[in-house]
Amino acid sequence: MWADHDPVTCIACGDTTARSDAREYDKHGDRWTRTDKEFEYLCKPCFRRLTKHARDGLEAALDDAGAGRVPDDEFLARFLDATREDTAERE
Ligand SMILES: [Zn+2]
Repeated sequence: MWADHDPVTCIACGDTTARSDAREYDKHGDRWTRTDKEFEYLCKPCFRRLTKHARDGLEAALDDAGAGRVPDDEFLARFLDATREDTAERE
């Protein structure tokens, strides 16, 4: 079981901070469903810079683009292509 003073690592900047000084981050944007879930953490400065816009479909889009499975440049190219197609379809 964790304790408030246990160190956690900010997923944005890599700094280590006490859990009690960090903010929980759920990549699906759902910080309220807690059962059987392990949260990631952001330090307070990074949390303040986090966009609070809805991110419906973002995880699926990242996965479709090959996040974590293809080299970064290929992933970025695929993601940007997919994003441009989405934008074009809405116009
Ligand atoms: Zn940070």
